[in-house]
Amino acid sequence: MSIGNKALSGKVALVTGSTSGIGLGIGRALAGAGADLLLNGFGDPAVIETLRAGLAAEFAVRVAYSRADMSKASEIAAMAIEAEASLGGIDILVNNAGIQFVAPIEDFPEDRWNAIIAINLSAVFHGMKAVIPGMKKKGWGRIINVASAHGLVASGQKAAYVAAKHGVLGLTKVAAIELANAGVTANAICPGWVLTPLVDKQLGARAKEESITVDAAAKEFLAEKQPMAQFTTPEAIGDLAVFLCSDAARTMTGVPLSIDGGWVAQ
Ligand code: NAD
Repeated sequence: MSIGNKALSGKVALVTGSTSGIGLGIGRALAGAGADLLLNGFGDPAVIETLRAGLAAEFAVRVAYSRADMSKASEIAAMAIEAEASLGGIDILVNNAGIQFVAPIEDFPEDRWNAIIAINLSAVFHGMKAVIPGMKKKGWGRIINVASAHGLVASGQKAAYVAAKHGVLGLTKVAAIELANAGVTANAICPGWVLTPLVDKQLGARAKEESITVDAAAKEFLAEKQPMAQFTTPEAIGDLAVFLCSDAARTMTGVPLSIDGGWVAQ
C-alpha cells in the first residue's frame, strides 16, 4: 500500500480479533505502514507469542498482545487502560473480532444470540467508549469497524449476525457525527466472502450437507451471493484500512465501504 513509507509511524493500532483471518491481515498492513500494534484474540499462547515476535521483527514496530475477551465490557476497558500505560494510548481502533452461528430464528439458541450480539456489536460500543477520550485529547484518531455485506443486506439463518452488523453500521454513523470536529473519523468496512476460519467452518458444513467437496461448496457460496466469483483477501482489507488511516481519508467518515465482489450492488 503506497500512502507514503511508514506513514503511520508513531501511531498505535489496536486490532481486536487479530490472531486470525481478516484481523491479522489488517494488523499486518497497519504494521507495514509503520504503526505499533496491539494484537488481541484467542489461540494457543505459544503460537500467539511466535506471531507477536514475528510481526515485531518483520515490520520493526512494537507489537503487544492482550487476551481480553471481547464479550466482556470490563476486559475491553482494562485493555484500553493497559494500552495507555504500556503503549501511550490507542490512535487506531479496529473493531474486528467476530463470530458466526447459523440457524433459523425459531431454532436460534439464546446463548448464541447473546454471544454474537456481545462480541460483534456490544464490543464495538465498549471499544469506542474506551478509546475515544484519548483520541479526542490527541486531536487524531481512526475508528474502523469491520462490519459485513450483512450490515447492508440480510441472508436467512443469520439473525444475530445480520442484526449485529446492521447495528455496527448505525453505531459507526453515530461516532462519525459525534467526532466530526475532533480529528477522529469512524468508518465501516463491509467485506463479502473472505476465506478465513470463520467461513471455512460454513464451507465444511455445506460440503457435508450436500456431500460435495469444500472447493465445490466455495464455488456455490460465491455464486449465490457475489457477481464476482472470487474471495476478497485479508490483505486487500488491510490495504483499505491503511487508506482509511491516511491523510487523504481525513474527511471520509460515517461510511460503510463495501469490498464484496458486487454482493450488495444487486
Ligand atoms: P476468524 O474466525 O478468522 O477471526 C476471528 C477473530 O476474532 C479471531 O482472532 C478470534 O480469536 C477472535 N475472537 C473471537 N471471539 C473473540 C472474543 N470473545 N474475544 C476476543 N477475540 C475473539 O474470522 P474472520 O472471518 O477473520 O472475521 C473477522 C471479522 O470480519 C468478523 O467481525 C466477521 O464478522 C467479519 N467478516 C468476515 C467475513 C468473511 O467472509 N470471513 C465477511 C464479512 C465480515
